[in-house]
Amino acid sequence: SDLKVRSKDLSYHEPVMPVGIVSIANEEDVSKALRICNKHGVGVVVFAAGTSLEGQVVPGREGCVVLDLSMFDKLVAVHPGDLDCVVQPGLNWMELNNQLKEHGLFFPPDPGAAATIGGMCGTCASGTLAWRYGTMKENVLALRVVLPTGEIIKTRSRATKSSAGYDLTRLFVGSEGTLGVITQATLRLKKIPTVSAAAKFQFPTLDHAARFSSFLVKRCIPLQRLEVMDEIAVRSVNLAFDQGLPERPVVLLDFAGTSEADVEGQIKEVERLARDAEFKCEDLAITKDPVQAEKLWSVRKRALFAAKSLREGAGHGKSKTRIATLTTDVAVPPSRLPDILEVTRQLIVKHGVVAPIVAHAGDGNFHCFLLVDEANEQEILISERFRDEMAEAAIGMEGTCTGEHGVGSGKRHLLVKELGPGAIRLMRALKKAVDPNGIMNPGKVFE
Ligand SMILES: Cc1cc2nc3c(=O)[nH]c(=O)nc-3n(C[C@H](O)[C@H](O)[C@H](O)COP(=O)(O)OP(=O)(O)OC[C@H]3O[C@@H](n4cnc5c(N)ncnc54)[C@H](O)[C@@H]3O)c2cc1C
Repeated sequence: SDLKVRSKDLSYHEPVMPVGIVSIANEEDVSKALRICNKHGVGVVVFAAGTSLEGQVVPGREGCVVLDLSMFDKLVAVHPGDLDCVVQPGLNWMELNNQLKEHGLFFPPDPGAAATIGGMCGTCASGTLAWRYGTMKENVLALRVVLPTGEIIKTRSRATKSSAGYDLTRLFVGSEGTLGVITQATLRLKKIPTVSAAAKFQFPTLDHAARFSSFLVKRCIPLQRLEVMDEIAVRSVNLAFDQGLPERPVVLLDFAGTSEADVEGQIKEVERLARDAEFKCEDLAITKDPVQAEKLWSVRKRALFAAKSLREGAGHGKSKTRIATLTTDVAVPPSRLPDILEVTRQLIVKHGVVAPIVAHAGDGNFHCFLLVDEANEQEILISERFRDEMAEAAIGMEGTCTGEHGVGSGKRHLLVKELGPGAIRLMRALKKAVDPNGIMNPGKVFE
């Protein structure tokens, strides 16, 4: 049954059974395992927490071995004076932040609750804090990596800046386990803000909410978080978690600073802008109570799971249909967010899909959670068509098919559309140079 668990992720991608699972908790054994697999041409899939959403941990062909690094999960060192720490790949980001609290520091990227640093490096994860602090690309300083040959390399020193050669750290961040196994990461840390507040603003339409968000980005107000949920997403959290929220589009904000006056100034400015007749803000609630703020954000963070409540019969019981989620992930320059959301709404009507929308609005990145019956090929086909048309529209607005979830196996065709054949040829050449036998996570990123 362990093999079955490792044959699948949380998405709609079809399971493929691995032939074995190797649990490893040190670098030397990772090196030995890769040497053996490379010699025999055995495919290797690194499985961290399996929360990725594009089929990344589903074996891309028969006969693969899964490397499970969940026990390789220690915080190795904290350097408060340098604002960095060194961790093993299996460490969960929330656990890391628990351990960093005593230093008054935290690591900003905040994807799925169970995600680990290795997996987050794999997908170049981000989350609700990315527009203030950046994604994994900006927050990973250096890596230790085992190459498919078993050779162990470091990508960079721990110095805050370095011009030493090609940027290998960024090559591995976002490589989805296709180039090597990350065995250690040095991470940049931030100071925990001393004063914070959270706010919920409701708007009559998604367009008003999106235009308000884009306006805040343009005004450069140093918010900590800036997120949007449409009325369908709000309905889903009402159904799933009994929230009793008015079912209208909502903008969620986090203010943070080093003094009361600083945060108070931000709140006043945003309130003033929200009341502008152009945005038609209907309801506005602000809290400085950390418990209330946490409650507000936990609703947003669970929106993906809440989406399932929109579909009757959803669940895993024997008598119920098995509903999986196809999650879209386009991102556009933030000023184009209202435009891409308008196109998305038209596509939802055209394809007749149920698709709650949740946006990391500060980054111009958003998700539609499409609920598909895994046994219904037609439904999956329609949802894939919807995803593709949306991605093409985003690419047409100088955007991307994936802001944070990665390409996996579901967006390989879109990567070519986004970057063109030359860039893909170069990526293939890099892959061939690092992994000539094609053992690392076969079938991901490109066909
Ligand atoms: C409820 C929910 C909310 C989410 N919200 C967000 C969000 O806001 N932002 C966001 O970015 N993502 C989000 N995600 C997606 C997911 O959490 C991220 O993709 C995360 O980075 C995956 O981490 P993981 O530890 O689960 O990795 P896995 O899914 O196990 O692996 C991800 C990829 O990394 C590779 N990998 C894992 N470990 C290593 C290693 N040591 N060396 C090399 N490659 C490795 C794997 O082979 C795979 O290709 C969400 C998911 C869920 C379920």
